[in-house]
Amino acid sequence: MIANKTLKLSLKSLREFAKKRLTDEVLIDLDARDECPLEIVRHMCSPDKLGIQLLFIPEEFGGMGGGTFDVYCVCEEMARIDLGVATAVLATFLGSDPITVGATPQQKKLWLTRIAEEGLLFAYGATEPEAGSDLGALRTTAEPVSQDGRTIGYKITGNKQWISNGGVADAYTILASTPTGPSWFVVEKGAKGFTHDEPEDKHGIRLSNTAALALDNVYVDADRLLGRVEGQGLIQAQLVFGYTRLMVAAFGLGAGWAALDRAIPYSTKRIQAGAPLSEKQGYTHKLIVPNVARLEAARSYIEETAERIDAGEGSLNTEGAIAKYMATEAGNLAADASIQALGGYGYTHEYMVEKIKRDVRITTIYEGTSEIMEMTIARDRWQLHLKTRGQHYHEQAQNFEKLHASQPKVGADCAALALHALAEIMEKARVARLTRFQHILLRLGELIAYAECAGSLARRAALLADNKLNEKANRRFDANALAAISRIFAREAALKVGEEGVRWIIGAGGVSNTDLSAFETTLRLPAIHQAQAGLISDMDYVADVLYNRVAKRADQAA
Ligand SMILES: Cc1cc2nc3c(=O)[nH]c(=O)nc-3n(C[C@H](O)[C@H](O)[C@H](O)COP(=O)(O)OP(=O)(O)OC[C@H]3O[C@@H](n4cnc5c(N)ncnc54)[C@H](O)[C@@H]3O)c2cc1C
Repeated sequence: MIANKTLKLSLKSLREFAKKRLTDEVLIDLDARDECPLEIVRHMCSPDKLGIQLLFIPEEFGGMGGGTFDVYCVCEEMARIDLGVATAVLATFLGSDPITVGATPQQKKLWLTRIAEEGLLFAYGATEPEAGSDLGALRTTAEPVSQDGRTIGYKITGNKQWISNGGVADAYTILASTPTGPSWFVVEKGAKGFTHDEPEDKHGIRLSNTAALALDNVYVDADRLLGRVEGQGLIQAQLVFGYTRLMVAAFGLGAGWAALDRAIPYSTKRIQAGAPLSEKQGYTHKLIVPNVARLEAARSYIEETAERIDAGEGSLNTEGAIAKYMATEAGNLAADASIQALGGYGYTHEYMVEKIKRDVRITTIYEGTSEIMEMTIARDRWQLHLKTRGQHYHEQAQNFEKLHASQPKVGADCAALALHALAEIMEKARVARLTRFQHILLRLGELIAYAECAGSLARRAALLADNKLNEKANRRFDANALAAISRIFAREAALKVGEEGVRWIIGAGGVSNTDLSAFETTLRLPAIHQAQAGLISDMDYVADVLYNRVAKRADQAA
């Protein structure tokens, strides 16, 4: 892990570099020309320049040995600058993940040292024209080449689709099926039979090169098979999902905040009906504050998950999925609201929010779509529900009731209501066998993500109030503000779980008319409704914090 001071210095140099080299004018121009600024990307990855890659390479291979939390911070900062450049730079990270988790010590030394010392750009080649969400449908093959009864190499044949850095990388990790199953191989650019297409003409992240790859009997030596054991590819891919999904979660978070950080100052200057837009509650409470609450709930989940991965709790794939789902969906909503917040100006290229919106759109698609995240979340937590005989979320809720007793301001009571309601909805779905409907299963995934994020934010608001947050944790908001944000989000989560949960259960025929009122009682819907009390004044307070007018309001009140 990197020392906090070093991390903060790296983030500062990144910001300063972007301020000079990636100004709005440059970004707008590159976006219009659909061009990846390769020289800038190489500068960022070069060890004697910005050296971002060094952050995630272990120290023994010449890097700085950054942990998951460090990577989240860098990804958020990169996304605030430009998501296309972030994708180009971080593709090396993704591309080298199969090496980090699956390679032999010699392979790690070779490739990770080269990334650290030469600033090698990598690409990650998993997706194929026919194999997107379902990687099991992989068609690329790696046929063993034998000599004297020994495998000396492989011939790889197939096509890869939508590969970030596809046209510019120096080396590629390619997933291909060997006779004993999918496996990762390293293929270097220029290998005979290895070509790439022209870059795709994309909706967003136009500063990132995305290209299809074609492999026609590309020969690689046996030592290019990562781990030197065939058939481990999907397991190796799974091992890093928690981690890589956190990176994309941080992309959604950074891009969402980048958009809001343009809308907020804009609204202080834009006068309509005799006053700045920032003074208008119907504006701030629709377009700004709810997006802040959702982004901060997602941040909280990202930070907790990163801390747990760094503490050695394993790859936490489900938590990575929740973080990605919430942060990328929230980032999209925030960017869309920011266009609205700038009115007609928001709809033009010059004001950047429309570019951010186009860019952030990719985050709910790559590294696993939102629907695949919903499925991953629901399937895992469903097992937990069954294993604990329906008690898992009730027990979680009880923990938040305890937290509420000691910290009554952090929204833990509302988070508890969301979690109790979730437990009842899952139980009803079990009794009526509703997960046979895929839509119900996936909607459960969404409700689970909301309820868990409400809990996470309440926990972090409490830690901040006790001055016990990790020193690297984001501190944009003080304890009072984070508590108010947590209360706003927990109310939204409880209402969503209760109301939408009942909707899907009724919609799937899971409860009869005669049983409906009893079911609603178990969901504690009246308490969830009651808990909305105070919502407007919390939103007023958060708007005052965002617009630096808390002191002014206090003066006025006095
Ligand atoms: C700009 C860009 C960069 C990318 N970079 C890379 C990269 O570097 N390396 C790489 O390997 N890949 C990369 N990808 C690929 C990306 O990960 C895939 O596009 C993504 O996983 C989805 O696969 P697909 O496009 O085939 O869509 P599909 O899997 O066909 O999905 C289409 C839609 O159907 C939904 N869907 C799919 N399966 C189900 C199901 N079982 N139940 C319900 N709904 C379902 C999906 O959620 C989605 O909404 C990139 C893609 C883009 C666009």
